[in-house]
Amino acid sequence: MTKPHALVAGAGIGGLTAALCLARIGWRVTLLERAPLLEEVGAGLQLSPNASRILKDLGVLARLKGAALTPGAIRIRRGRDAALLALLPLDKAEQTWGAPYCVALRSDLQRALLEAVAGVPEICLVTGTTVAGFAAASEGVTVAAKQGLMSLRFEGTCLIGADGVQSFVRKRLLEPAKDALRFSGNEAWRALVPADQVAPDMLRPETNLWLGPDAHVVHYPLRGGAIVNLAVILGKARAPNMQADAWSNAGDPQMIAARFSKWHPLLRGLIASAPEWLMWPLFEHEPLSGWTAGPIALLGDAAHPMLPFLAQGAAQAIEDAAALANALKKNPAVDIALSTYAAARLAHTAKVQKASHQQGVIYHLAGPAAAARDLTIRVLGPHRMLARNDWIYRSSQQIASQQGSR
Ligand SMILES: Cc1cc2nc3c(=O)[nH]c(=O)nc-3n(C[C@H](O)[C@H](O)[C@H](O)COP(=O)(O)OP(=O)(O)OC[C@H]3O[C@@H](n4cnc5c(N)ncnc54)[C@H](O)[C@@H]3O)c2cc1C
Repeated sequence: MTKPHALVAGAGIGGLTAALCLARIGWRVTLLERAPLLEEVGAGLQLSPNASRILKDLGVLARLKGAALTPGAIRIRRGRDAALLALLPLDKAEQTWGAPYCVALRSDLQRALLEAVAGVPEICLVTGTTVAGFAAASEGVTVAAKQGLMSLRFEGTCLIGADGVQSFVRKRLLEPAKDALRFSGNEAWRALVPADQVAPDMLRPETNLWLGPDAHVVHYPLRGGAIVNLAVILGKARAPNMQADAWSNAGDPQMIAARFSKWHPLLRGLIASAPEWLMWPLFEHEPLSGWTAGPIALLGDAAHPMLPFLAQGAAQAIEDAAALANALKKNPAVDIALSTYAAARLAHTAKVQKASHQQGVIYHLAGPAAAARDLTIRVLGPHRMLARNDWIYRSSQQIASQQGSR
C-alpha cells in the first residue's frame, strides 16, 4: 500500500516538526520551502516544557544538547532602578512539568531539526520553492509552486500551511479580504552581544525580564555563556509596511538608546553593547474560527499569529505538529482527521493568543497602574507567579502521551 503523502508549505520550526511527527506515523512528507537556504537569524528562543517535551520525544532535544541552556530562574526587574520584582525558580522545571525549560539560538534549534529531518528518508525538503496555489482534488490536493522561473506541480494527500505569520495558505483559505492580520503597535529589536562586552550581573544563567512604560526587555546567555541574547520590545511603534518581510529589517541603535535613557545603567550598558540590531514588527490576528478546508489545514504562526510575550509562538507550532500527527493516526479519513486536529487545538491556541496580548498590556503599564502591577507581582510571590503558566506548560502532556501510544 502506498503511504499517504503530506505536502507542507514552509520549513520553519512548525513545518520541520510536523514533518518529523508525520513520518513517525508512517507518512511521506514533502516540505516546500520558499527560502533557497535554511538559515535562521541569530536570535534566541525560549522553549518551555510543553515544547521541549515534544522535542525530547522526537530526539531533537538531545541534538540540541550543549547548544541549549536551562536557565535556573526568571528574574523580573523594574526598568528604572533594577528593583527585583520576582525571581521565578526554574530549577525544578523538569520535576514539575516533566520536561526542561530551555533557551537556545533559533539557528541551533533549526540545525537540530534539519539534522533529524535529514535522517528520515520519508521526508523530502525542497528549498527555493514558493507555494503559489492549491486546490482540493478528488484524491487529495494539488499544489502549484514556483522555483525560480519554473512552475511546478505537486500532488499529495493533504496540504499543511506552515508558512508563517504572513501565510499565503491562510490568506487563500480564508479569502484575502477576510484576513485580519494587523500590526500590534509593538516592534521587537534583537541583538546578540558577546559575553566579554557584558557586565557579570547579566551573565547569570537566567532569563531576565525588565519592565517599564511602553517597553520591556528580555535577555539570557546562550552557547554556554559565550553570548547574550537581547530582545527589546517597544510599544507605541509606527505601523510598518504590512507586506514587508518581517524578518529582515535593520534597526536604528540611536533611537533605541534614546528610548531607554531613563532606564537603569546596567540595562543601558547592555543595550549599548549590541553590535547590531534587527527589527521585527509584531503582528497579531484575532483567533480564527477554523483552520481547515477538506484536505488543507494550517499550523503554527499561519494558524494563530500571536505576540511573543509568553514565548509561545514556536512552542504552540510544535504542539500543533504533534496534535496533527495524532489526529491523522487515529482517523483514516483525512478531512475528518484535519477537522479533529483543528478542533483539538483551536480553543487552546486562542487562549494563548489572548493571554499573550494581555501580557503585553501588563508589561507596558505606566504610572500608578505599573506600581499596582509591581505590587501584585511581589504579593503573589514566585511560586504563584509561575503557577499562572501551569496550563501552558502542562498542555502538551496529553498530546505526548498519545504519541507514546503508537
Ligand atoms: C521577537 C520574537 C521573539 C520570539 N520568542 C519566542 C520564544 O521565546 N519562544 C517561542 O516559542 N516563540 C517565540 N517567538 C515566536 C516564534 O518565532 C514563531 O512563533 C515561530 O517561528 C513560528 O514558526 P512557524 O514554523 O509557524 O513559522 P515560521 O518560523 O515563520 O516559518 C514559516 C516558513 O514558511 C516559509 N514560507 C513562507 N511563505 C511560503 C510559501 N508561500 N511557500 C513556501 N514556504 C513559505 C518561510 O520562508 C519560513 O521558513 C518569537 C517571535 C518573535 C518575533
